[in-house]
Formats: sequence, C-alpha cells, structure tokens
Amino acid sequence: MPAITEFPIRHDWSRAEVEALFDLPLPELLHRAGSAHRLHFDPAEVQVSTLLSVKTGGCPEDCGYCPQAARYHTGVDATKLMETEAVVEKARQAKAAGASRFCMGAAWRSPKDRDVPKVAAMIREVKALGLETCATLGMLSGEQAQALKAAGLDYYNHNLDTDPEFYGDIIHTREMQDRFDTLSHVRDAGMKTCCGGIVGMGESRRQRAGLLQTLANLPAHPDSVPINRLVQVEGTPLHGTVELDPFEFVRSIAVARILMPASMVRLSAGRETMSDELQALCFAAGANSIFYGEKLLTTGNPDTERDMALFARLGLRPMRVENAKDDSIDACTTTVHAGITEAA
Ligand code: SF4
Repeated sequence: MPAITEFPIRHDWSRAEVEALFDLPLPELLHRAGSAHRLHFDPAEVQVSTLLSVKTGGCPEDCGYCPQAARYHTGVDATKLMETEAVVEKARQAKAAGASRFCMGAAWRSPKDRDVPKVAAMIREVKALGLETCATLGMLSGEQAQALKAAGLDYYNHNLDTDPEFYGDIIHTREMQDRFDTLSHVRDAGMKTCCGGIVGMGESRRQRAGLLQTLANLPAHPDSVPINRLVQVEGTPLHGTVELDPFEFVRSIAVARILMPASMVRLSAGRETMSDELQALCFAAGANSIFYGEKLLTTGNPDTERDMALFARLGLRPMRVENAKDDSIDACTTTVHAGITEAA
C-alpha cells in the first residue's frame, strides 16, 4: 500500500482500503491518523459534549445493546416526554455551565406526529435562549425533519450503529435503509448530521471496517462521528459479548480519523470504563471530542473533575469556540440511541 501523504475528503473508500488501514502496524496507523488530525484541528483541543434525555426508556425497537428497549428487562423505567419548561430550565443550566449548544434525546422509534409540535416548542424555546439546538429522536420523515428545522433545529443525531452486513444480527425492527433515509431527510432539510456507531458488539474487524467505510461514503461526512464502545447491560441480548481488545478500539478511532479527517471524532458510550491510558491513546489516534452524559449539568461532579485532571495531565484543553465551529462545550445527545442510561 503506498504511503498516504495527503488526507483528502473522499466518499469512495473501498472495503479493502479500509481493511488495509486497520491492518497497519499500530505505530504507523497512529502516525497517519495523527497527521490527518493535524491538518484540520489543533490536536491539543478536545470538544466536550453532554446531553439531556427528554424521554427515557419504553422504546419499541429491539436494538440488541440498548437498555431503553421496552422488551428487555434492564431496570430502566420508562418516562413520559418532559415538559417544555423543565427542558428549558436544564438548557439554562447548560448555558450557565458554558454550553452554546443544547441537545434533546428521546428513546423513540420515531416521533409520533402529535409529538412533533411538543419537541418543536422545546427547540424554539431553547433556541430563544441563544443556544444552538440538537436532537436525537429516532427515524424522521421528510415532513418531520422540515418541521424540526423550521422550529430552529441545527443538528440531528442518527447513528448507523454497525456494518450493513452485521446489522441484522443486532437490530430486527428497522432496516439500514431506514437509517439512510432519515439521514437524507435531515440533510435535505438543511440540518447538520451527527452519525457514528458502536464497536465491540461481536463484529469482525472486516465489519468494523465496513461501518467506517459506510460512514465515510455517505453523501456528506457527518459533522460529528461518535464511536461508541459497547456498554454491556445485563438484560440486553449483547450482555456477555466477548470484550473488544482495547487496541482494536484505538484502531477504530484512528481509521475513523483518517477516513473523515475534518469531522469531530467523538469518544462516547463506554468511555467511563476506559483507563486513562486508553483514553490518551484514543486522543493520539485523533479523537477530539468526549461525551459526558448529563454530568456537566451537575455542578462539582467528581467525574467531570477527573476528566479535567486527565486533560491537565495530557496537556489537553477544551476546544475553543472558533475551532469547534461552536462552543467549548457542546450539550449533545449523541449516545441516547447507543445504550446510554444515565440520562434516566
Ligand atoms: S437504541 Fe434507540 S431506537 Fe434502539 S432501542 Fe434504544 S432507544 Fe430505541
């Protein structure tokens, strides 16, 4: 394979090319990913993201990793959609904590048409606080995407989850094509996309390459690419899956960075069980965004303080506004549909 000296934005990656990146000696892969990272970002800066779940649990879908699916007995209680006022209060707190973007996540297959005006009202009021808005609500029709955009929605998260070849092993209640359709509706409505997946679900390296290839070959690279490591939750079908080798996770981050050099590559679900050393390797591999759950909305949270201490040890700092094309803190819900329960 010829040496890569440039990292153009491409949408025509072959599976063989992506697998060849995965197969590189790790130091060489990290070198290439680090080089790609530096072309678009300051590698000392990391964007910080948080979330608000506005409707938790009780989801009719069967995503095999997800404790919010009603059919699995995981101890997650279903809640109703929050009242707009309560959401706006949380948004105020996020703004006071330094956020410039606020995201709302709901564990739905897709919003019912009667839900759309309620979510639209939340979006309008959050926007009126001077915050950017982001949401993850499941599948959207074209009309729903247009309605949310009209209410002021800036970003939409919808993950591919895994390789199209492996998808049927994980989810049976919707097709991969449904996901492509939703992403297309979101793009057509003029919103930015946040789209990634989960590794460590028992997929092969070839299938991990397939997930990243599929993401990179979307018509537009997602603005943010959350790479989640499976959080095994008792009661879900994927509980008991053989743990992914941590170096394979690092390889996944590095390949995502090379394939989508100008996107934010986000460490999301599963970060709380990673060692400081593993997180440091992920930053070296090109991760430049981390996910906090709702912790940022809780002042003096020890986990938040531990993260900031790790930043200090590694010489990293929260990303500056102009570099993130938003604020240093991005209140975003990228993992509500990746098995996160702390939003409950
Ligand atoms: S990942 Fe999202 S769509 Fe799938 S079961 Fe969980 S909440 Fe429902």
